Amino acid sequence: MALVLVLNSGSSSIKFQLVDPDQHATDDPFASGLVEQIGEPHGRITLKHNGDKHVLEAPIKDHSAGLDLAFNLMSDVGCGPTDVDLVAVGHRVVHGGILFSKPEIITDEIVDMIRDLIPLAPLHNPANIDGIDVARSLLPNIPHVAVFDTGFFNGMPPAAALYAIDAQTAINHGVRRYGFHGTSHEYVSQKVATLLGKPAEDINQITLHLGNGSSCAAIQGGQPIDTSMGMTPLAGLVMGTRSGDIDPGIVFHLHRTAGMSIDEIDTLLNKKSGVKGIAGVNDFRELRSMTDEGNQDAWLAYNIYIHQLRRYIGSYMIALGRVDAITFTAGVGENADFVRADALDNLQMYGIIIDPERNKIRSDQPRLISTDDSTVQVWVVPTNEELAIARYAKQLAS
Ligand code: AMP
Repeated sequence: MALVLVLNSGSSSIKFQLVDPDQHATDDPFASGLVEQIGEPHGRITLKHNGDKHVLEAPIKDHSAGLDLAFNLMSDVGCGPTDVDLVAVGHRVVHGGILFSKPEIITDEIVDMIRDLIPLAPLHNPANIDGIDVARSLLPNIPHVAVFDTGFFNGMPPAAALYAIDAQTAINHGVRRYGFHGTSHEYVSQKVATLLGKPAEDINQITLHLGNGSSCAAIQGGQPIDTSMGMTPLAGLVMGTRSGDIDPGIVFHLHRTAGMSIDEIDTLLNKKSGVKGIAGVNDFRELRSMTDEGNQDAWLAYNIYIHQLRRYIGSYMIALGRVDAITFTAGVGENADFVRADALDNLQMYGIIIDPERNKIRSDQPRLISTDDSTVQVWVVPTNEELAIARYAKQLAS
């Protein structure tokens, strides 16, 4: 069985999966794991394979040591890179700027281009490059492929992609809407086209990726025409810990009047805001139990979240004109029936009617949750970004 190693390298962690590109979206990967606490005194590697979980605890100096140890652990249980038919390595790269609209086979030049984009993603791209460098040196004879989170949104119309700020400043500093979660929106929208039995070019849809990070996209005939995340993944919907859209004047106010530094405001908006900022928790299971107990902060957080989500859905309905499908995906979108029900409540005059019984069904399969007479079909489609990356990687490598 041909397998692809999918790597998602963060600043202190590496997520890895060995994926059969021909597997179903809801099948477990052949193996999966996580290297954590890189650079700290106590590192940890976990590996899941064949239903067993293996753990290795050791100091992990850097990404190179981390991946090396992970490969050793995989070899110990018979799923090391040389034990399997490894055909490609797929790397998740957060920012492709306007340079990349599709996945690319990684060469030294491509790495240099990803490096040039560091100012746009100062936390993410350096870690992605570390992962690429290390994996290329450990597996030099396997093709490596970069798949960009922004790629799907690269061709968005200027009216949606550009901000109304001084044009020269925007050009000089790469200030524009890039969008993120592109691999997920593309994967899910293509899946919906298959489920509807129509070519993607023939359908208009709204995809709602609601996880700890959340974004939505308006997709017209297979091409995105708008998305909620912006120059950074801070914009758009209310998220687990991120504010989503706020008045930019708030930043100046907090800096000038409250005396907060730019770094403090960055932390506030990225880590201490969103649902967590209001209710103190960011997991929707906890939030739900709190609302059930009548906790007012939890209700407020939830209502702000839903209000913002409906605002985006409404604006995308207008942007698209005709909507064939609305699809929920990711941790909240796939699991929280109450979010789905409230997001699309009372929209029957727009042809959107959720069937409460269908909506309640729990499943890891794609499923229709609208009534038969809803003119807009509403779907829940599990996303699988690793599988999408594996498929691109295999395609480019062969
Ligand atoms: P993701 O970022 O896609 O992994 O989504 C993670 C989020 O999904 C968690 O923080 C939870 O808020 C949410 N989630 C996961 N499982 C459930 C569930 N069974 N019910 C409600 N929310 C869930």
